[in-house]
Amino acid sequence: IDLDRFKMINDSYGHFVGDELLSQIAIRLKKNLRSVDIVGRLSGDEFAIILPKCNHQQAQLMIEELQIHLAEPININHSILKMSASIGVAMFPTDGRDIETLLHRADIAMDQAKNNGRSQFCFFSHEMNELLQSHLKLENDLRHALLNHQLHLHYQPQIDLVTGSLYGVEALARWTHPEFGEISPERFIPIAEECGLITEFGYWVLQESCRQLADWRAQGINIPSISVNLSPTSFHCVRLPSTILDILNLHHLKPQELTIELTESVLLDNHPCTMKILHEIHALGVHLSMDDFGTGYSSLSMLRKLPIDELKIDKSFVDEICSDEASAKMVQNIIAIGKNFDMHILAEGVETKEQEAILKRFGCDRFQGYLYTKPLAYDALKEF
Ligand code: C2E
Ligand code: CA
Ligand code: CA
Repeated sequence: IDLDRFKMINDSYGHFVGDELLSQIAIRLKKNLRSVDIVGRLSGDEFAIILPKCNHQQAQLMIEELQIHLAEPININHSILKMSASIGVAMFPTDGRDIETLLHRADIAMDQAKNNGRSQFCFFSHEMNELLQSHLKLENDLRHALLNHQLHLHYQPQIDLVTGSLYGVEALARWTHPEFGEISPERFIPIAEECGLITEFGYWVLQESCRQLADWRAQGINIPSISVNLSPTSFHCVRLPSTILDILNLHHLKPQELTIELTESVLLDNHPCTMKILHEIHALGVHLSMDDFGTGYSSLSMLRKLPIDELKIDKSFVDEICSDEASAKMVQNIIAIGKNFDMHILAEGVETKEQEAILKRFGCDRFQGYLYTKPLAYDALKEF
């Protein structure tokens, strides 16, 4: 049993309330049990219950009741808190014959419950185990790939809508797995985040894309700028600005030739360093671009506080710009807001001439998308 959002409560109400909350939860857990049952606290906000002589159906009933009890408001220090828990279940003897295996498998089921949303429960299944095994394998393989230069970048051109010329390229990570073939970044980036590789990965993308830009320059191919995606975690690292500067210097690039793409989620993790680091990067002269704009928790006050140079209109709006009036209005409004803040506007995922024409009419500055080309490997881009 793992409490949902406990860390948030601890952080926002303080440890006294956190401790008190844990005791009250413990009391509730005990109240619900039979005299033969055992309850204990494993660590932090994790508890375990052993229910002897209990079949699948009975266990499910117990859990449902428990979740109702846990959800009743708790009053601590005049704050009314509403708690919930994610619960994973392993059954003896089908899921394991010793306590270690059972706890481990209950933990796997609990993780699955958490992934399904708050206040859920899950019974362990062997498919879950297989999924976990393959996930662990990918994690290991990704670590190996990063160390052994098996990752590479593709580049998608960004076009100036007014002049029709190349404005820059966005670097997009690619992983060709020796057994499974191409693995999408939408799959491996979250893995890199989970297993603590993402910061190192971000540095690799920065180095590789700047090296590539300098290499094109040396060959007389003029690519004005390069955009690099960084995950929110990258902005926790205080050496990010100085490392960026070192990389630029190493390749004799100007700061304005590099754009860092960030997403709105950067602001949600509330890390104390993030704001400072964003301002430091901006002060270097490196451009910042807000990716997937309009899909997250965009708040306008946040846009005012951040030194953003470019807004990227998310593909989902572009997709419907010709067919759905609301989407078209949304795009017009995004462009107007961005322009008022002196930002450039780039539309992503442009696939048709009609979309391009409407965006141009709305005053959008730049775009990228399959209409021009998919992201290209190094030599294909040279060709392009
Ligand atoms: P994103 O940054 O929003 O990148 C745009 C995605 O849309 C890319 O997918 C690109 O190939 C795709 N795309 C571009 N134009 C079109 C179009 O006209 N139609 C359609 N259907 N798709 C288009 P990709 O390369 O698979 O990347 C997916 C996501 O993975 C990226 O979304 C980004 O969030 C993440 N990602 C990729 N590379 C990196 C990286 O180096 N670092 C980090 N942190 N994230 C990355
Ligand atoms: Ca991007
Ligand atoms: Ca995007």
